Parts: sequence; structure tokens; C-alpha cells
Amino acid sequence: MNFFKTPSMLKRIYPSLVWDKFQDADCPEYKKIYLTFDDGPIPELTPWVLQVLKSWQVYGTFFCVGNNIHQHPELYQALKDGGHRVGNHTYNHINGWNTENFSYLRNILQCEELLSPSDMSQKKLFRPPYGKIKLKQIQQLLPRYQIIMWDILSGDFDADFNHDACLERCIQHTRPGTIIIFHDNYKAQKNLTYVLPRYIEHFTEQGYTFGVL
Ligand SMILES: [Zn+2]
Repeated sequence: MNFFKTPSMLKRIYPSLVWDKFQDADCPEYKKIYLTFDDGPIPELTPWVLQVLKSWQVYGTFFCVGNNIHQHPELYQALKDGGHRVGNHTYNHINGWNTENFSYLRNILQCEELLSPSDMSQKKLFRPPYGKIKLKQIQQLLPRYQIIMWDILSGDFDADFNHDACLERCIQHTRPGTIIIFHDNYKAQKNLTYVLPRYIEHFTEQGYTFGVL
């Protein structure tokens, strides 16, 4: 499937994970969208994403792969300097379902060592690669991390997905409080470069603002 709106049933099964930021309509934070970017930072796409966000004065949350931070520390620094929030996406982008719990946690800690110490008043952020994580792994991570899932998977990584259709479906399914996943990885380049500026423009015109997690 090239597009995925998270079913409410899944949200109910895993209530300890963060799927969205839906608020009551009278809340000042109500009309917010949370842009998230997974898998970077990479030189081919992350600087472009940063430039687009800057041009709209918008901030996002980047779930970084430790090995990419290791290879491109200057890009990681640019994320931090740009005022964006960063989260942990493991060191090697590993699948929790196929990984022993000990190895999974060790890989997350390996990534953690490269992340700047965050504000101690906030829990650190983690997003499992592929959204695949075992219950035991969730239980072990929850004391230290907010585990951030999503309300909308943009499908930007699917090269067979027409970019107009990708944009239209992202727009159609977004609602106040949506957490949407984009990717700053190679596969997403074709769709993301089309979709991201148009998505931000559309919702800015609709009076939305964009928040960090
Ligand atoms: Zn990922």
C-alpha cells in the first residue's frame, strides 16, 4: 500500500504510543500539523528540506538514523541550529520485529550517543523504523522515550505513486493535530520535492500552523 491512514483500531490497541495530537476545537493548539521526517540526514535531500521549512518559517521533527548522523554531522548540526526537534530512529534503521530485544535497545542507545542532550524536562523521542516494534520493546522504551507513530504515512517513498496523487491524498486526510511522516531519504526525493512545499502552502493558506513534537 502506498498510502496509509492509521486505522483508529490500531491506535486503540497501542494507546501508549503517540499517533496524533488531536485536541478539542477550543484549544489554542488545535489547528496544528506536525511534520516529521524520517531516515536522514543525507546531503541529497536534508538541506533542501531545511531550506523549504525555513522559507515558510516552519519547524519539524526529524527522526534521524545514527549512521547518517555519524556520516554527516554537519547536517545534524544544521537541524539543531535551524530550531527543529530531533528524535531517535535507531543507528542502523533496524526492524524491531526481526531483532532481539537486547540488540534493538543497544542499537537505539548507539544512536542516542550521537544525539545532543535534550531538554531534561521533555522525554526523548523515538520512532521505530517501519513502525515495527514488539510489545516488550515498547515496555522497555517507554520510561525513557515518547514513542511517536503517525496519523498519516505520506507514501512519498513509493516511486510508483504519482506525486499529484500523493499530495492530494495527504491533503485530503489531514486534520487538526495530524502527525504526518515524510522521508528525507533517496527513495522519497521525487515525491517529496513536489509534495512538501505545496502541502505547507495549502495548509498555511487554511490558517494552520506547524508544530514540533
Ligand atoms: Zn525509517
